[in-house]
Amino acid sequence: MHEIPFEEILQRLLDLKANRVLIQTPEGLKGEAQALADFLERNGIEAIISGDINYGACDPADTEAKRLGCGALIHLGHSYMALHLEVPTLFVPAFAKVDVVPALERNIEEIKKLGKKIALVTTTQHIHQLERARTFLEENGFEVLVGKGDSRVSWPGQVLGCNFSAARVNADGVLFIGAGYFHPIGLAISTRKPTLAVNPYSGDAIWMDKEAERLIRKRWAQIAKAMDAERFGVITSTKKGQLRLAEAKRVVKLLREHGKYAKLIAMNHISYPALEGFDFDAYVVVACPRVPIDDYENWRKPVLTPREVEILLGLRDDYEFDEILGVERKEDEPPGISVKGL
Ligand code: SF4
Repeated sequence: MHEIPFEEILQRLLDLKANRVLIQTPEGLKGEAQALADFLERNGIEAIISGDINYGACDPADTEAKRLGCGALIHLGHSYMALHLEVPTLFVPAFAKVDVVPALERNIEEIKKLGKKIALVTTTQHIHQLERARTFLEENGFEVLVGKGDSRVSWPGQVLGCNFSAARVNADGVLFIGAGYFHPIGLAISTRKPTLAVNPYSGDAIWMDKEAERLIRKRWAQIAKAMDAERFGVITSTKKGQLRLAEAKRVVKLLREHGKYAKLIAMNHISYPALEGFDFDAYVVVACPRVPIDDYENWRKPVLTPREVEILLGLRDDYEFDEILGVERKEDEPPGISVKGL
């Protein structure tokens, strides 16, 4: 179970004078969402639970909350992201309870191979332990740099699968604390620096350079598969934090300038089965980079990122990871509120 700060959420809702709320949750926090709804209703606030699957802070259900007449949205499981919101939104991250220092201790000799000056980054789940990690590393003689990142992230040192701005510091190498490959591979490609991923659950450390090379080889294979394609579907997302319409239109224009047929497609949940029946030879996903990179094996047509289209058209030859940069909130918009519960 994750600890959700019920009392702090209640206080924030009372401050906002919200007497009806929509609760949005990722798959793993459904039980907590239901318990929170019970708690809020015991305290006089009507709570509706969203049954739609949520994958990130990039997809807040603020429009749905407004349509349901809710005074606020509670977005569980992800940290605050600056977005243009329609109702006040409480972003409530879920922090992991695992201690990160034992895994660092165990891998100190590997970490030394990064050099003296290291960029330290992690995901939301472990961000509350970043200072502990920094202190441990400094006591072991490292100069630790924790980048601020742009407005897409909530905390210095935080990375997302689509944003590595916090790693752009003048370091010899990058130390990532967390599980899974997607973030550290993206870090290795984006920073072009030696990247070591230390997993606090298993205690293992993995160098990402080979993994990054392997991924880039697979992406070149996708680009090669799209070489003969004449008809492109360019997909933009309608999810608030993935909507990159200007970039999608730029890709359409580029393809047309190079003699290709290109059409803009808007989708909410992007998956290949929904596209069956359209007459395209290849697709470009201008949304979450995880879709073309993590999910391409489920697509029967080649699927590329915008940067890969530039390679396909001969406009660049170096491989670049597809990142989404932060936006600045406008003054007159409802706020996004970070509920830390620390
Ligand atoms: S766009 Fe993708 S990687 Fe970025 S926050 Fe959303 S789900 Fe995560």
